[in-house]
Amino acid sequence: MSDVLATNPVQSSPQSVLRDVFGYDSFRPGQEQVIQACLDGRDSLVLMPTGGGKSLCYQVPALLLPGLTLVVSPLISLMKDQVDALHASGVSAAYLTSALSRPEQLEVLAGVQDGKYKLLYVAPERLVRPEFIQRLQHIQISLFAIDEAHCVSHWGHDFRQDYMALGQLKHFFPHVPMMGLTATADPATRLDILQQLRLQQPMVHQGSFDRPNIRYTQLQKYKPLEQLESYIKGQEGSGIIYCNSRKKVEDVAFKLANRGINCAGYHAGMEAEIRDITQRNFLKDNIDVIVATVAFGMGINKPNVRYVVHHDLPRTIESYYQETGRAGRDGSPAEALLLFDEKDVARIREWISLTDNPHRQEVELQRFAAMEAFAEAQTCRRQVLLNYFGEYNASACGNCDICLDPPKAFDGTVAAQKVLSCIYRLNQSAASQYLIDVLRGKKLKRIIDSGHDQLSTYGIGKDESDAWWHNLINQLIHQGLIRVDITQHAVLKLNEAARAVLKGELPVSLAVPRMNLNLGKKAKLDNRNYDRALFAKLKKLRKSIAEEDEVPPFVVFS
Ligand code: ADP
Ligand code: MG
Ligand code: ZN
Repeated sequence: MSDVLATNPVQSSPQSVLRDVFGYDSFRPGQEQVIQACLDGRDSLVLMPTGGGKSLCYQVPALLLPGLTLVVSPLISLMKDQVDALHASGVSAAYLTSALSRPEQLEVLAGVQDGKYKLLYVAPERLVRPEFIQRLQHIQISLFAIDEAHCVSHWGHDFRQDYMALGQLKHFFPHVPMMGLTATADPATRLDILQQLRLQQPMVHQGSFDRPNIRYTQLQKYKPLEQLESYIKGQEGSGIIYCNSRKKVEDVAFKLANRGINCAGYHAGMEAEIRDITQRNFLKDNIDVIVATVAFGMGINKPNVRYVVHHDLPRTIESYYQETGRAGRDGSPAEALLLFDEKDVARIREWISLTDNPHRQEVELQRFAAMEAFAEAQTCRRQVLLNYFGEYNASACGNCDICLDPPKAFDGTVAAQKVLSCIYRLNQSAASQYLIDVLRGKKLKRIIDSGHDQLSTYGIGKDESDAWWHNLINQLIHQGLIRVDITQHAVLKLNEAARAVLKGELPVSLAVPRMNLNLGKKAKLDNRNYDRALFAKLKKLRKSIAEEDEVPPFVVFS
């Protein structure tokens, strides 16, 4: 088939290639326009969510154009999968990576010289080597396709040094059209890709990033382990729990496993072999839950992930979207649950303030502000998400926690006064859990030892649960009445505005705390496939792992 197309390109159209080579009836939204722009010799930037069908955008023109299409891809496994799939469709394609032996590489290079392939997949570092560029200058190149193009940007969630040099291609091959493709729609990253790749008057296609089958939900984080346990046991199918550090991954995986959940940890600090076993078992449904850092992601295509939980607040909507996007690829209902804690906000803000590049700091703050707005949204969360990507949907989605259970206001003046006066009585030196323990009049040793059971505020909050008070405290933080001092073990401090509330001069309107997701769903506990050997190994490994964030240079979390 590829030979026919190679020798007889003009008589073929995108539609016939789609039908005859790939076996599909119609293009998906955007594909045809991008393909046409490419056939017209234009540069382009293709923004489509994962699974949107980006590959065809360059594979179809590759078969219609006379020369070779070079595809840059960051992962060897992705290249191999794609080339295998092309072979299955009868297209002659190859890949060139360090995973091939020297003779194999030479064979591929000879094939390139002879015009044997329509598509060649290469790793970025190879494509910018002078001797390789020289070779390419002697053959006909029709198109450069830069897959996962966000890797070129420092703003992206997956920056690769090697991608940076791809900007040179425009210098050596000014007349060869270039197509960048990514599932990243973050505005800062998008602009950066255009600049870094030096795309010339590109056609930019932005597909919809909406994932209607994913329900977005936020839950106040206060006892994450208990919350996770009851959440997971109320779910069916597999899930991913994202944590912000390796240490936390180890910890959460270990503790959840001890609570009878069939789970395993995954992060970049683990031996490749263990990571492989874990990943394979997850794909085969032998492991229900993966607890992971962001290292668990690209290239993992498991269609039936039913939920993704964020144990910690991500720093950008972009990474949040990527990570939650791993749920519900099969189109069936799935859930994205964000455990939200005001302390995470304070820590991330602190961390961003340490950035020494002022421009970067500003951009990071803006991006984080958007993430925060999502987490604290009082209106449809999906709208907040899509607005960030430049998709302005008119109507609320009906499939997020806010749409399904809209916030109801109540007069929270008395409740607020209870909290504020208790903070005051505790000399502004208690963190939220201790404050709540005092409010609820718990008979804890540390309370009695410090004489706090004698305070007038001891026990005045008996009627409500811990979760309710945590939620309330967060609302008071949002309203600016109190703040978290992260330099001092996250103790709560009163702000100036609290005075008027305490004096009864300022009423406080609050939202009725939303709690207890999954009520009514029956717990499903499944211990059968729990891999003890793997876990013992993990336990050993755990000791040797330093606390470390996965994405340099964004480090520092406790
Ligand atoms: P992306 O790279 O955007 O994540 P892919 O290119 O891997 O997505 O495509 C995802 C899936 O959609 C693949 O199985 C692909 O064959 C399929 N697909 C792409 N375009 C079409 C189409 N026009 N009709 C039907 N299926 C398509
Ligand atoms: Mg792809
Ligand atoms: Zn909604």
